[in-house]
Amino acid sequence: MTNTISILGSTGSIGRQTLDVAEQMDLRVAAITANSSVERMERQVRQFHPRLAVLTDVCAAKDLSVRIADTDTRVLSGFDALLEAATLPEADTVVTAVVGMVGLKPTLAAIEAKKRIALANKETLVCAGELVMDAADRCGAEIIPVDSEHSAIFQCVQGCADRGEIKRLILTCSGGPFYGMSHEEVGKMTKADALRHPNWTMGPKITVDSATLMNKGLEVIEAMRLYRLPLDQVDVVIHRQSIVHSLVEYKDGAVLAQLGTPDMRLPIRYAMTYPERGVNPAEPLDLLSCPPLTFAAPDRTAFPSLQLAEEAATQGGTACAILNGANEEAVRLFLEDRVGFNDIADLVARTRAQVAVTAQPSLEDILEADQEARQSVLRGTL
Ligand code: NDP
Ligand code: MG
Repeated sequence: MTNTISILGSTGSIGRQTLDVAEQMDLRVAAITANSSVERMERQVRQFHPRLAVLTDVCAAKDLSVRIADTDTRVLSGFDALLEAATLPEADTVVTAVVGMVGLKPTLAAIEAKKRIALANKETLVCAGELVMDAADRCGAEIIPVDSEHSAIFQCVQGCADRGEIKRLILTCSGGPFYGMSHEEVGKMTKADALRHPNWTMGPKITVDSATLMNKGLEVIEAMRLYRLPLDQVDVVIHRQSIVHSLVEYKDGAVLAQLGTPDMRLPIRYAMTYPERGVNPAEPLDLLSCPPLTFAAPDRTAFPSLQLAEEAATQGGTACAILNGANEEAVRLFLEDRVGFNDIADLVARTRAQVAVTAQPSLEDILEADQEARQSVLRGTL
């Protein structure tokens, strides 16, 4: 059970919802971090009185220091300050809610400091899942998934002592805003179209990933790493209503699922209260008024990103770091209106073909692969 949290990425979608949960559960907040959102950070400092507030952007941090000079909160800037926020002694749980591979080193630092990790930052597990899970085992740090699908699976495997009893994990996928379209139709979709997710309000990067289905691809890898299962035991099924958050099929044929309204505060709260359950003030799921629950196979031709991720997962080594680095860069270019929607998967595929994969990688190999992938994407768009 959590008493004091630090949040990496407190101004984002997950970060803000974590603070809602912290307020409702009366948790103390030790550190909060963001990149450059000064005004939101000031409001959070005044409401939650953390000991430390970090803005990685140096100018933004200077501005924040002036604005909150009347408070007891210390302000730091730069990447290394994230490591300090991740390891403050008074926090028992660190919520990793930054977006992208930038979360990797702070997550490892929090693991070394034996914190409970409430893990939202899936890119970390995609790039360096084996390293992260091994470090958690070695240090005795708990990793509790916040991603709704992985939280659902985590809830469905409680009481399962032998992972050999699991036949497969079934990740549900909303299908995103372009569900049912052909690859050609999808290629005409704009940034505004891609940012309109049917069921969830999230940060821009994951919203685009949800439209390409790369999000589900990243989640397949995340599930493989969290539960140490091979690709052929992790399936994806389209479920437009986002009510069944994922399922576990056991070898005796029993299929366990976790259902709920699409509200990230439920998995966030569970990551705080596990192994207990807290009180949720929101209306619970009403089975009698919810729409019919439907399931369908994903279309890997219209949405090739899912298959690209599955191929990288099979290859292993630095393949997933290359996939992720290329995708982060391609999505950034799409959000800057510099490439089209289908260019995202094309750039990832081209980068995967160009950058050599290292087996059994060290942390340095992974960071290098990430950089190489990003450069390869930029070269491809010159
Ligand atoms: P947002 O874009 O809403 O928020 C990202 C946060 O990270 C912000 O606080 C942002 O600060 C900070 N940040 C961004 N870039 C950097 C950087 N270079 N250095 C330091 N801090 C940085 O993202 P989400 O909350 O949507 O997603 C966060 C993570 O959670 C992602 O990995 C995502 O895949 C995962 N996730 C999100 C879900 C959701 O519902 N949103 C669901 C499941 C998983 P600033 O505001 O200053 O830019
Ligand atoms: Mg998810």
